[in-house]
Amino acid sequence: MTDPRADLLAAARTMAAVRLSPGTSGNLSVRASATGDARDGFWITPSGVPYDQLETGMMVFMDMTGDWSGALKPSSEWRFHLDIYQARSDAHGICHTHSIHATALACSRQAIPAFHYMVAAAGGQDIRCGPYRTFGTQDLSDVALTALTDRRACLLANHGVIALGPSVARALTLAQEVEVLAQQYILSRQIGDTVILPDAEMATVLEKFRTYGQQPKP
Ligand code: 13P
Ligand code: ZN
Repeated sequence: MTDPRADLLAAARTMAAVRLSPGTSGNLSVRASATGDARDGFWITPSGVPYDQLETGMMVFMDMTGDWSGALKPSSEWRFHLDIYQARSDAHGICHTHSIHATALACSRQAIPAFHYMVAAAGGQDIRCGPYRTFGTQDLSDVALTALTDRRACLLANHGVIALGPSVARALTLAQEVEVLAQQYILSRQIGDTVILPDAEMATVLEKFRTYGQQPKP
């Protein structure tokens, strides 16, 4: 069994190094069972700790009732992490960022449409922007879950990004992709005449993504 806290620390350090999480913004978690732990729960980063001070022993274990153990308080966003793990069997890792370009779009309350085929990496025809709710609330968790319907990533109005995946590393990779897409979309809009791909083409891309990259040999 790998130490889930080591995976979490590695992802948190990378998230800060690639500048996806200004200050102490953002948080990450990993489902316990994703790393061979039989417990029903997840490990989450502590609230408000600068990324360069994070250590494995600071990670917080939370069960699926919201009870937690550890020396430090869990991330203030533990509710949406818990609710995503409850609702989404495909989520084994979650990454929340305030990355610059994606957050800028979210502050204009704009979704990312199919302006580039890589939008399909989030699982659908677009990357939605959920409505604004106060950070750390059940209300925010509720609107985030809706924005994530049939998607692995969403924007949160006036706030940031949520990405999920089969591991915390993959969730982070998707959050990076969302940031790149947001930057490209903003630039394209500045040039003007941004062309949106038709639904049928995005359906073709989504199908191709099912077998993209390295697959086990049949
Ligand atoms: P935490 O430091 O409590 O994880 O909060 C950061 C954040 O991004 C809140 O939305
Ligand atoms: Zn946040």
